[in-house]
Amino acid sequence: MQKLEQLQKEIELLPGLDCAACGAPDCKTFAEDIVNDLAVRTDCTFMLRKRISDLAGDLCELANSLPPLINGEKEEDYEC
Ligand code: SF4
Repeated sequence: MQKLEQLQKEIELLPGLDCAACGAPDCKTFAEDIVNDLAVRTDCTFMLRKRISDLAGDLCELANSLPPLINGEKEEDYEC
C-alpha cells in the first residue's frame, strides 16, 4: 500500500512525456523503477535539468546573500 502511494507520487512528479530517454518505455514504468530502487528521479533528463536549474537558483541566491567583504573590495551582485 505504501509503495502504491509512493508510485502515485512519482507519477505525478514526472513530466509525463513518455519519451523513453531514461531507458524505460514510459514515465509510469520509470516511476515503478524508482519505487523499486532500480532508478533515481534524476535519471530522467527533464528532472535532472529541473534539479540543476533549482540548484543554480539556490546557489545564486546564496551568493547574493554574502555579507559585505571585509577587505574593502566592492561587493557585486550576481545575475540570476
Ligand atoms: S525520460 Fe522522463 S519524460 Fe521521458 S519517459 Fe523517462 S521519465 Fe518520462
